[in-house]
Amino acid sequence: MPDIQPTPAKIDISLSQGVTIQWRDGHTSRYEIKYLRDECPCATCTDAHNTGEKPTSTKAQPTAGIALPIYKPAGHKLTGAEAVGRYALQFHFDDRHDSGIYTWTYLREICPCEACRKQPANM
Ligand SMILES: [Zn+2]
Ligand SMILES: [Zn+2]
Repeated sequence: MPDIQPTPAKIDISLSQGVTIQWRDGHTSRYEIKYLRDECPCATCTDAHNTGEKPTSTKAQPTAGIALPIYKPAGHKLTGAEAVGRYALQFHFDDRHDSGIYTWTYLREICPCEACRKQPANM
């Protein structure tokens, strides 16, 4: 009998590597930080998806002539994460974006694994 709402049994958050969620039904979802950032469900990002525009982000352009050791694109790391009630997670991305609330249902929906990509969200 399928759960109406997916519930995680175990959550593993690495600020630099990504987020792994083991669900009660035995399924495991693994999310890269960049993927979570791209799928951010907040109003700003959703609007941006709909219009095909990227939200205006302050791009750190390396000044010509100064060699920066590594150019790190923003949004590829977390600076923090916290639980929102008992139903969601909130991520703080390194581009200072943190308005997305990722509910369990949403996280399960966007599970990037092959099995989930092939199937409709409802099982
Ligand atoms: Zn967002
Ligand atoms: Zn999956």
